[in-house]
Amino acid sequence: MLTRRRMLTAAAALGAQWTVPAFAQENAQQKLKAVATFSILGDLVANVGGARADVATLVGPNSDAHVYSPTPADAKTLAQAKVVVVNGLGLEGWLTRLVTASGSKAVTVTASTGIKPRRMEDEHHGGQFVTDPHAWQSIANAKIYVTNIRDGLVKVDPDGRAAYAANATAYLAKLDALEADVKAAIERIPADRRRIITTHDAFGYFGAAFGMEFIAPQGVSTESEASAKDVAKIITQIRTQKIPAVFMENISDPRLMQQIARETGAKIGGTLYSDALSGANGPAATYIDMMRNNVREFAAALMS
Ligand code: ZN
Repeated sequence: MLTRRRMLTAAAALGAQWTVPAFAQENAQQKLKAVATFSILGDLVANVGGARADVATLVGPNSDAHVYSPTPADAKTLAQAKVVVVNGLGLEGWLTRLVTASGSKAVTVTASTGIKPRRMEDEHHGGQFVTDPHAWQSIANAKIYVTNIRDGLVKVDPDGRAAYAANATAYLAKLDALEADVKAAIERIPADRRRIITTHDAFGYFGAAFGMEFIAPQGVSTESEASAKDVAKIITQIRTQKIPAVFMENISDPRLMQQIARETGAKIGGTLYSDALSGANGPAATYIDMMRNNVREFAAALMS
């Protein structure tokens, strides 16, 4: 019995060497292990990486990347990664410690490199100027993200240069089409109605790119709660400026917006996806779907 088992083991070992097709082994070995810090970035990396990359995301769908508590599993994922793609602009304050703790040797690619950062006075930080991290909400910026991701993947996996270049070019063409559609959709909304309240200040880059005004009781981060004073100020602003609609965000507690809507009579305009995608079956499972969903919600609330 023992002999027979040993023989079987030997045969299995031989089988493993001889029967697994060479291309399958190669594929498994060559897939580039990439990590993106949050779901929106994960989608961009997956589009550029295509079949060559295995993309893991740390902060998942419907979750808040501003205030994230990394798990031991995240450290393990990072330890195995060859490349980690981050947003930068102060979004991922929790990342440096995680990278150090994981012992990761991954190359870091900062997707926002080269964009023009939006600086704004933040009343939640004593009026000091803070950098708005939500650069992806401008599609022009997302295109810069894609070229940075392409160049970063080529750096860690030079053999994939042609594949990453082709994937990026194809995806950039989709972003061009998206940008034209969003521009046209916003232009159809009367200029004096293009004003919206959101929970936190996540749409500054979108507003600057497409000509819309966004006002939020919370600052550019979700770290600090909106104070009673912030909320009172917004309520006055909605009344005096006749702002038509308030929106919920998939990453924020909806109760604050519901309260503001009740007190002002402003319409609740549905859910926006600002800092995270929806789940796979939701309306914002990809970056492109997210942008289309948000614009649909703006138009539905502001044009009726
Ligand atoms: Zn945010």
